[in-house]
Amino acid sequence: MHRRRLLGMLAGCACGTSLAPRLLGGALRAQDAIDFAMPGGEPAVGLAPARFGEPLPGGEILCRLCPRECRIADMARGYCGVRENRRGEFFTLVHGRVCSLHADPIEKKPFFHFLPGTDALSLATPGCNLACRFCQNWQISQFRPEQVPTRAASPEALLRAARDQGAPTLAYTYSEPTIFYEYMRDIAAYTAPRGIRNVVVSNGYIQERPLRELAPHLSAYKVDLKAFTEEFYARQCNAELAPVLATLETLKSIGLWMEIVVLVIPTLNDDEASNQAMFRWIRATLGPEVPLHLTRFHPTYKILNLPRTPVPTLERLHALARAEGLHYVYIGNAPGHPTESTYCPGCGARVIERYGYVIGAIALDAGRCRGCGHPIPGVWS
Ligand code: SF4
Repeated sequence: MHRRRLLGMLAGCACGTSLAPRLLGGALRAQDAIDFAMPGGEPAVGLAPARFGEPLPGGEILCRLCPRECRIADMARGYCGVRENRRGEFFTLVHGRVCSLHADPIEKKPFFHFLPGTDALSLATPGCNLACRFCQNWQISQFRPEQVPTRAASPEALLRAARDQGAPTLAYTYSEPTIFYEYMRDIAAYTAPRGIRNVVVSNGYIQERPLRELAPHLSAYKVDLKAFTEEFYARQCNAELAPVLATLETLKSIGLWMEIVVLVIPTLNDDEASNQAMFRWIRATLGPEVPLHLTRFHPTYKILNLPRTPVPTLERLHALARAEGLHYVYIGNAPGHPTESTYCPGCGARVIERYGYVIGAIALDAGRCRGCGHPIPGVWS
């Protein structure tokens, strides 16, 4: 059996990008997750010059990496907790050190139209520029570098590790890759010319200039579109929706392969009106062929009072998205659901069979449906 397919069966269920499936369920502490991922790590910062900082009068630095545009006083840090003003010089504190390193199925990111059945060596550093109340990886995203065990990992070492694992892809994921931008950029610039694909799993909270500078080193970008109202972003993430939509438009103009994930949370973002507006925006702005993953919420972090998303809710939104003209809509975190598979828009044939992370038959020839020849967009080879 294909090693990747066996891994999928052992994992048992699809749970987005959470670390949880690797930890066999149960309540987790940050230390558990890190120990599993990185035995022997120790809390430490990885100091390196940070980019996109502009000096301001009075010694402050304005950070233009993400839309928050923090004004950072001397010896203070930005909102993400990993970018620091030291006597007028701007530093990142998470360069060259990882807190998580796993070989994951690419479907777990999730990417469904990107080298199906392969693994992505997936890495993270502590920190995030959002504060989502439903974060699946809050044990690393909501902590400072000094609080999370990490280990040194150079681009050369990560290239060797990916090759050793038989993983054609490096994925920046779990926390928010934007906040370890310089590290991610150095790794991608080193590994991409050596045959490794680099993909980003992001909240989309990044400014246009850094995104455009990073994109030539990348093969794909996944954006969590957390809802389609400013109210949700303000209340649940302490952020704004508009910059995320701007990022999606930039990715479209660049032509980088992208997929979108929406975590559907009961009562918070599962209403028909806002989702219909979202689906229409995606179709009109990005086109009908962008894969859309509607994933099932599980109670976690600060939202423990709401139930799992009922599957009929996801099915209702799935039908709505299809009715609005989106071709590739998937229900996630519901292993065995027929919408996990990819179907040809031309003839309706199943062209990629999935069960959780397990890949079955693939009926594609050079990116086209084997039955009718309809092109299926994605990165297939
Ligand atoms: S990357 Fe961090 S420091 Fe820079 S603007 Fe965003 S939250 Fe602030």
